[in-house]
Amino acid sequence: MAAVIGDPVTHSLSPRLHNAAFRAVGLDWVFVALPVARGQASAAVDGARALGLRGLSVTMPHKEAVIDSLDGLTSAAADLGAVNCILRAPHDDGLLLGDNTDGQGFIRGLRADLGLEPAGLRCAVVGAGGAGRAVAHALGAGGASVTVLNRDPGRGEHAAALAGPDGRLVPLDDDRAVRTAIADVDLLVDATPTGMAGDSSISVPEACLRADLAVVDLVYHPTETPLLAAARREGSRTANGLSMLVHQAAVAFEHWTGTAAPLDVMVAAIA
Ligand code: NAP
Repeated sequence: MAAVIGDPVTHSLSPRLHNAAFRAVGLDWVFVALPVARGQASAAVDGARALGLRGLSVTMPHKEAVIDSLDGLTSAAADLGAVNCILRAPHDDGLLLGDNTDGQGFIRGLRADLGLEPAGLRCAVVGAGGAGRAVAHALGAGGASVTVLNRDPGRGEHAAALAGPDGRLVPLDDDRAVRTAIADVDLLVDATPTGMAGDSSISVPEACLRADLAVVDLVYHPTETPLLAAARREGSRTANGLSMLVHQAAVAFEHWTGTAAPLDVMVAAIA
C-alpha cells in the first residue's frame, strides 16, 4: 500500500495516477489519499513506518514538517527543505528517506514535451514558491542559467540562490527589467497560480512573448492558460503543467516499485 498525506487532499490526482500505474505493471498495490491535519505529520510518518507502507507522497501543509521524522534526505530535498515523496532506503530495512521529485519531474517533462535539455539553457522562472524553487533548483543543477522573476524579494532571492552561481532575481514589478530579462532567455516558466481556472491575467507583459521563446506554464487547469494561448499566437512552443505532474509521480513510482513507470497509462488516467 502507498498513500498521500495532506490537508486538503481529497482533490489529489495521485490515487488515479498511481492506481492506474500499479494495475498496468501487474502490482497488487493500492494508493489512497489520507487527510492528515496540520501538526500531525510526524505521527503520520510513524504510522506509515509501523504499517510498512511502501511509499508515501506528501503534500501541503506537511512538506517541511515531515523532515524531522525521516532518517535521511536526497540532495534535492535537503537543498529545497521540502519533501514530497518518502521512500525506503535501498538495502536498509526500516529507514525512510525524503525526496523532492518536483524538479526532476519538471526536467523530464521539459525533455518529453519540448525536447529541451537544461545544460546551457537560458531560463526565466516566474514565481518563487514551492514549485518555482524546485524548478529553479533543477534547472540550475542541470547547467541552465536562471533568472527568477518574483514580487516578494526574500522568496525571490532564495529561489535565485537555489539556482546556483548564475541565479539572479529581477523584481516582477520592474517592467523594464522584466522585458530585458525575458528578451535574453530561451525558456520562460510560469510557476505562479496566475491563469488558473477563471483567472484571465498573465504574469509577464504579453509583448515579451516571441516565436523563439519556449513557454511552460505549471498550471494544468485549464490545459491552455491565457499565457500559453498568447504564446501560441506568437508562434512559441508551449507546454502546460500536466507533464510535470505525471513525471514527478513517475519518479515516485520508480522509487517505490523499482519498475519503470507506465507513462502513457498515467497520462490517460488523468485525461
Ligand atoms: P506557492 O508556494 O503559493 O507560490 C506561489 C508563487 O507565485 C509565489 O512566489 C508568489 O509570489 C507567486 N504569485 C502568486 N500570485 C501571483 C500573481 N498574481 N502575480 C505574480 N506572482 C504571483 O505555490 P506553488 O506551490 O509554488 O504553486 C505555484 C503554481 O504551480 C500553482 O498554480 C500550482 O498549481 C502549480 N504547480 C504545478 C505543479 C505541477 O506538477 N504541474 C506542481 C506544483 C505546483 P510572491 O512570492 O511574491 O508572493
